[in-house]
Order: sequence, then C-alpha cells, then structure tokens
Amino acid sequence: MTRKDRTEGIYSRREVLDESERRKFYQIQLKDLLSYAYRYSEDVKKRFDRAQFDVEKFKELSDLKHIPILKKKELIFLQSMGPRLGGLLTKDLGELRRIFLSPGPIFDPEDRSEDYWGWSESFYAAGFRPGDLAQITFNYHMNPAGLMFEEPLKTLNCAVIPAGPGNTNNQLDIMQKLRVTGYVGTPSYLMHLAQKGEEKGLNLRKELYLEVAFVTGEKFSEKMRTTIEKKFDLIMRQGYGTADVGCIGYECFQKNGLHVANRCFVEICHPDTGIPLKDGDVGEIVVTAFNKTYPLIRLATGDLSYIDREPCACGRTSPRLGNIVGRVDTTARIKGMFVYPHQVEQVLASFEEVKRWQIEVTNPGGIDEMILSIEASSFKREDELLHSFREKIKIRPLLKVLAPGSLPPQIRLIEDKRKWD
Ligand SMILES: [Zn+2]
Repeated sequence: MTRKDRTEGIYSRREVLDESERRKFYQIQLKDLLSYAYRYSEDVKKRFDRAQFDVEKFKELSDLKHIPILKKKELIFLQSMGPRLGGLLTKDLGELRRIFLSPGPIFDPEDRSEDYWGWSESFYAAGFRPGDLAQITFNYHMNPAGLMFEEPLKTLNCAVIPAGPGNTNNQLDIMQKLRVTGYVGTPSYLMHLAQKGEEKGLNLRKELYLEVAFVTGEKFSEKMRTTIEKKFDLIMRQGYGTADVGCIGYECFQKNGLHVANRCFVEICHPDTGIPLKDGDVGEIVVTAFNKTYPLIRLATGDLSYIDREPCACGRTSPRLGNIVGRVDTTARIKGMFVYPHQVEQVLASFEEVKRWQIEVTNPGGIDEMILSIEASSFKREDELLHSFREKIKIRPLLKVLAPGSLPPQIRLIEDKRKWD
C-alpha cells in the first residue's frame, strides 16, 4: 500500500499571509473581538472600564498591552461570580453545545460552531489526511480533550475510534485489526504502547499501520521522538493549547518550534507586569483567541516560551513559539532576576559529570541567597561552573557538591524557602 504524502501543503491561506497582511488580519480580528466582548460580556466590560481602556481607541496591535492580563487562576473565582460563568460568556449556558470541567476546577464552555477548538490546521500540519483512521486515547469524561480532538478529524474527513485512555492490550488489538493509521494522545502513552506491543512480540512496523501521531499534554525529548518514530515508522508532531482556549500552536513537518495558530494572537509577556517582551526573550505565553462566545482576552497561560520569527522552510509565515520551556510557578525571582529551570539546564549541559541538581532559595536577614546543589561523584570545575552560571543567569550561587543519590528522588528544581514574615 502506498503511503500518503503527509509532509506538504497547508490547511488554510491564513497560514501563509505576508507580514503586512498578517498584521492587518490580527488588527481586524482583535478590534472586532474587543468591541463585541465589551458589549456582550459583563466581565470584559468591568475589566476594560477599571483599566480605563477605550475600545474605540484600539488601533495598533501594541495597544493591546493596556488591557491587564487575565491569570488562568483567576478564572476559578471569576466563573463563580454569577450567571454566564460570572459574565465571562456572551451567551447563556443553554445556547452552548457542551460544558467541560478541568482541574481548578475551571469550566470549559464549547459553543456550536464548527471546529470550535481550532485544531484542524494543527492536525493537517502534523500530517493527518482525509481517509485516516485515528485512535484517540485522551479522556472523554468531563475533560474536553477527547471530544476536542475529534472535531479536527471530522473537519479533515478522517474517522475516529474514541478509545479513551488505558486498556493497553485492547488498544493494540484495535490498532492491529482495524489498521489504524493515526494516533492521538500523550507521547508517553504512545511509548507505553510500543513497549507493551514489543513485549507481546508484535512487529510494530509491519503488524501495525500507524503513519502519523498527534501528541500533546507533556514535554518530551527529541530522543524520545526519534525512538517512537523509528519503532512505529511514523511521523510524530505536537500541538500546544489549553482547555480554556483550544489550539494555540503546533509543529509542522520541519519541527522547529510551534507555529502560532491563526485563530489567536499570542504575546510573550513579563509574568508580573503583563508587558510584552521582545522577540527571543523568555516570558509567559499570553493568548487572545478570536472567540466571541468566551472572550478570554489576554489570558496568561502560566507557560513560558519565546517568539521566533525566522522564516520556516514549510512556508508558513506565522511566528513560532520556540518551545514550552517551563511554567511560571516553577520559576523564582531571585535578587530581582527571574531564574528558570531551563536556563540552569543550559548552563549545566556542558558539565556531563553533574547528574542532578537543585536550587534552594533562602533569605537570611532578608537578603536572597541561592544555593545550587549538584550531584557528581567527583567535580573539579567549580570555578568554571560558577563563571558560566553568572554569565548566563547573572547571579552567583553558593555551590554544594553532593555525592550521587543525596538529593531526594522527587524534588522541585527550584525550591523557594524564603520567608517574608
Ligand atoms: Zn513550519
């Protein structure tokens, strides 16, 4: 059987707008959304009025920064503030299609429009094509994931097996009997399927027919991707989004970051002030999806990334998120500087002898102190490490070298032990 070409083409013309067309597109979409939301969402009206933000004066994309960011955590409280999810919705609940519940708890409304969560271009970029048979291993109960990922497959004329999570032997059996071509789920579960399949003596490349996998929900290494792709002989690409807004970004065949989805406007902002940062700087992903039913304007996702505008060989012109490098809540601000776990990883990458590490922050006498503990059997490059740490992170830590196995098995990479009382 000849394989489909899964590497070429685009789903929509919006993916290849040139720079000025794209700016215009964002301006029109945002202006339209802000005016509508101000008129029909009680919460948006309150928020804009409080910030003295005048929708009529919105002209440039940079005007958006005058609207305060909305932290995801705030949704829990706001949604309980009255009808229409505390005025966040512009419709009554009965006018929607479904309402899901995610941890928080946060309600996730879905209206009756086609491809509400906006994953179609993402699935196309991942390599899904009409006629695919896809097995969805995400949860279908309460949580939006399962049904959220069915929508794009319907749009792309694919068939779906709503398998849900778990029951690995059964999943493998279905994949084999029905010659399933597409996988939708977490990368770790796909790896688990590979291991279970191999244990059963299944030839994953010959007795299974997977050609494409869409994964999300977890970080994974390039090594893991290569391993999975080789084991099954498939293409694995990831999408990025949240249960509040749906699709935010996705990988193309070139796998060099996440193209920002054409259904939303993304800013990278300082986590405290909400002020947009310049391209390349790491900050919080702040998203405004063009969604008039549930207009979450400038939603701060808690995820950290940076913007890359280098052209992509796939021809898509949307900016890319350089990858999700961490979470705002695992980040500490030490002596006024944000310290991100991924920066520490980068510094330590050139010290192979360091097996594990942890940073502890304390503030004896009200002054921040940072202790970097590393596990290494013998370590002689202390000065070099401290130097490169200070170059990259701008702070000099106290260094503790520990014997391997000294750190507890489960640790927070940056442990904030400061006290302010
Ligand atoms: Zn691309």
